[in-house]
Amino acid sequence: LIGRPNVGKSTLFNRLTHSRKALVDDQPGVTRDRIYGKCIQGDFRFLVVDTGGLTLNGTAIQIAVQEQVERVLDEADALVFLTDGRAGTVPEEFDIAERLRQSGQHVFLVVNKVEGQEPDVVSAEFNELGLGSPKAISAKTGFGINELLRSLRAELPTVVDKLDRSDRAR
Ligand code: GDP
Ligand code: MG
Repeated sequence: LIGRPNVGKSTLFNRLTHSRKALVDDQPGVTRDRIYGKCIQGDFRFLVVDTGGLTLNGTAIQIAVQEQVERVLDEADALVFLTDGRAGTVPEEFDIAERLRQSGQHVFLVVNKVEGQEPDVVSAEFNELGLGSPKAISAKTGFGINELLRSLRAELPTVVDKLDRSDRAR
């Protein structure tokens, strides 16, 4: 989960992993390390990584956070770029989008905090980030989460675990 501070990454992480492992806070910058959790939806399972937020310039702490994010860019199978539908796009997000395009990773552009608003209207301006059609969700209420999981499922690589393989060999 990539995105600038305060867009709701930790809230989404907690919802996907059914945990309260990631600290959710009104103050930007509360999550500093990567936090790992399992998302289990029936036979669809994947590891979710919460990050401290992507800022491309800033203070020493922000730069330390940035180093964590760079590692995630390398190790992830797919990136969820989370944005804030209430805030709209901010100039920095165009730089983040560019960085993510360079990563060559599969990027899911997701607009959060759309509850109580018209999802299509809110997400329209995020098309300008050039990362495809945004998916509108509310990490807080759960709106759009199943839809997001469906598209993740369609794109994430399938790994057959060892147990399945030995079952099949028999
Ligand atoms: P992070 O910094 O990206 O990890 O963001 P957090 O998960 O800590 O959330 C930042 C703030 O946004 C908190 O006050 C959350 O309660 C709030 N928030 C997160 N998701 C939503 C949402 O879907 N709707 C609304 N209205 N607020 C949200
Ligand atoms: Mg956080």
